[in-house]
Amino acid sequence: MKVCKFGGSSVADENQIRKVKEILDSDPERTIVVVSAPGKRNKADKKVTDMLYECVALASDGRACRPVFNEIRKRYLEIAKGLSIEAPELEKALAEVENNIDAGLGRDYAGSRGEYLNAVLISKYLGYEFIDAQECIIINDDGTVDPVTYEKLGERFKEGGRYCLPGFYGATKAGSVKTFSRGGSDISGAIAARAAGADLYENWTDVSGMLAADPRIVDSPRGVEVLTYKQVRELAEVGASVFHEEAIAPVIPLGIRINIRNTNRPGDEGTLIVPELDSSELIGVSAKGGFTKVSIRKMMLFKRRGVRHAFFTALHLFGVTPSFSLFGVDSIVILFSSSQASDRVVEDMCARLKKDFALDEVSYERGQAVLGIVGGRMNESTAFIDVATALKKERIAISFVNHGASDVTTLFGVKDDEKERAVQVIYSALFK
Ligand code: ADP
Ligand code: ASP
Ligand code: MG
Repeated sequence: MKVCKFGGSSVADENQIRKVKEILDSDPERTIVVVSAPGKRNKADKKVTDMLYECVALASDGRACRPVFNEIRKRYLEIAKGLSIEAPELEKALAEVENNIDAGLGRDYAGSRGEYLNAVLISKYLGYEFIDAQECIIINDDGTVDPVTYEKLGERFKEGGRYCLPGFYGATKAGSVKTFSRGGSDISGAIAARAAGADLYENWTDVSGMLAADPRIVDSPRGVEVLTYKQVRELAEVGASVFHEEAIAPVIPLGIRINIRNTNRPGDEGTLIVPELDSSELIGVSAKGGFTKVSIRKMMLFKRRGVRHAFFTALHLFGVTPSFSLFGVDSIVILFSSSQASDRVVEDMCARLKKDFALDEVSYERGQAVLGIVGGRMNESTAFIDVATALKKERIAISFVNHGASDVTTLFGVKDDEKERAVQVIYSALFK
């Protein structure tokens, strides 16, 4: 059997949801479906999830969320009408969500309701049984999935029916609603695939699979036919947002293959993600910005036992978790998401590090991006030479290179405001 996850644009309105039904009806193996909240219907449109967060902001200001919530209400009622679904319980559910947001139930609750309401509607339209993720998916404090989830969901699926689940959320151990990070319905789909022991996890979106570069940056990039778990994870981690970077973990133990496909072009084969592949082919290039870089230096610092550990612990005290780090002989460079620390916090942190570790030098720089070239056997590849040459020719400065630490990715540091141009330059150099 196959688990199918449909992303926001695939369930954005009644016409899209009709396509979902056609796709499901065309293959009897497609018995479990995971849905996102309605996404954008066009470029200028708003995602329901974003509007729900606007509602939370109003409520936490002590204002009624009604002006924004009415827009949300309208979208669901339009979908129900367009699909000819009788919706007395939908109106009741909408009223309850609005009241609860006004009452201050908070961000996780509100954010999750986009998926909840959509799954209630879509399950009715499809004639699939609705399963509330709050009852089956348990998310630990650190955002990981509690293994009890697979037993709970697996029990439900054993009955062998057709099921529709809302993506993006589950519950804490204590039972209150908790969401994954943005784009997290991909994780829910992977969880459902593992719990069901699926033969295939189909991830339906608005592009015909993984492309060698972000299509919003490079014009008509070439498609990727097949890539590995490791490659898709690392490509996603550096910005290829078509598949959530944490959505691979649940399917690894069962080796379930993933097929990224296009709801608007169901005839396209899309991209297949497999456990392993013996190939040295280049897959793609991607970049992610919004990082702050902290560089420190101290002669012979790392000769002392436990110093690296103490250094990372000191960062945690300031709420900073590095996404990337590089070790030199007497120096370390770390990059972390800039949203983790204001200028004040970064300055305090640097001052504290300088004092506690008696550093010779410490400095920080905002506006950094990390760019990754992903492929097979990258640690043996010389592609980084072509990349460096192409960037040099375009006068794009490289602030660091990390080659050899991963067999699937070589990383480069560039300035945030040059990252898109860098991706274009590299795409031309490696893939054209
Ligand atoms: P969904 O709502 O279906 O989960 P997302 O918006 O999360 O869809 O992901 C699909 C989008 O990811 C595409 O429309 C595309 O703009 C973007 N994207 C970024 N990098 C890539 C890439 N390398 N390949 C394909 N799509 C990409
Ligand atoms: N609706 C959520 C978001 O917009 C989750 C998802 O679409 O995967 O991030
Ligand atoms: Mg997505």
